[in-house]
Amino acid sequence: MELQKRTWAEISLDNIEHNYRTIKAHLPAGCRFLGVVKADAYGHGAVRVSRRLEEAGADYLAVSCLDEALELRNAGIKMPVLILGHTPARFVPVLIDRDITQTVTCLAKAEEYSQEAVKYGKELKTHMKLDTGMSRLGFLCSGSLFDEGVEHVITSCRLPGLIAEGVYTHFAVADEPGEENEKYTLEQFDLFCRMIAAVEERGGITFPLRHCANTGAVLNYPQTALDMVRPGLLLYGYGDGGRLGLKPCMKIVTTVSTIKIHEKDTDVSYGRLFRTKRTTRMGVLPIGYADGLLRSLSNRCSFATEDGPAPQLGRICMDMCMVDLTDLPGVNIDSRIEIFGPNNSLEKLSEAAGTIPYELMCSVSKRVPRVYGDERD
Ligand SMILES: *Cc1c(COP(=O)(O)O)cnc(C)c1O
Repeated sequence: MELQKRTWAEISLDNIEHNYRTIKAHLPAGCRFLGVVKADAYGHGAVRVSRRLEEAGADYLAVSCLDEALELRNAGIKMPVLILGHTPARFVPVLIDRDITQTVTCLAKAEEYSQEAVKYGKELKTHMKLDTGMSRLGFLCSGSLFDEGVEHVITSCRLPGLIAEGVYTHFAVADEPGEENEKYTLEQFDLFCRMIAAVEERGGITFPLRHCANTGAVLNYPQTALDMVRPGLLLYGYGDGGRLGLKPCMKIVTTVSTIKIHEKDTDVSYGRLFRTKRTTRMGVLPIGYADGLLRSLSNRCSFATEDGPAPQLGRICMDMCMVDLTDLPGVNIDSRIEIFGPNNSLEKLSEAAGTIPYELMCSVSKRVPRVYGDERD
């Protein structure tokens, strides 16, 4: 059936590949590339993005949970996949059978995974996660906990049924400017390196894959590349302020469904947040917060038309919102409106919503069909 083209997302896999190759060209020789494709590849479609990365020669993928990993395996993706979050130990046989790598975040979980793997009679591939300052997941190792952290990592690596293929940590402020943030990031990196060295020295354990560089670190701290980098946002063309020449990969497009002429002093939408100041040619767009257009953007953003920006008017509703077309007489029913993309910056929109590009990108909902213009197969 023909797509109705109410509101859709145009995804460029060619741009994803361009970004992958561009980032790769900036890495030290031999450094591997893990593409973070959690949250449906930040809304771009995890299977399509992963397939393209696989063809292009990327080394690893990362997702947040088992269901996301299985989606890739069920679609025939063969490359290594790391689960960044927690998986309950009873799923160890599934992880092993589908060749999925699991993050290990503390000794107790290592023991659970080990027991299940031994019971199953096979080995589970793991990456040890160290908490160097994010205070989320990982073996504690800051300050007085250093020696205990080293002990626990060594013990975990030696447990039967576990293969310790990698070790990693995650930065809290690598993408934020300022001396304080730089100091914090370098301290995290130093602690990560000291932990790895101590585990090697005291336990004779070496990790083939040491990785820590997210988007911010790939851009601002090239010395953190180690064996593999782990960017997400950067792969999708954001976060570098244009420095590397990356290309955005997602454009949200809608069309004008209805146009009304309202008199001056007409209240618009829920809550009567906006009242017309003149005779207003108002367009109704079939996109609302159920599509991912955050309600917090109400009355404080504009979208791109062929003739220039159209200010958004009044509250954004669940399925619709209104725009001012008074000064854009060339914009008519069925005219295309870009919500974000090359002509309407996602960064600017996120700022107006009081959030970050990540959130707006991940908010584009299931109702918005993804259209892959340059898909080769
Ligand atoms: C999400 C995530 C990344 C990618 O972060 P970006 O800022 O998008 O590059 C890397 N590592 C971990 C552990 C993550 O959770």
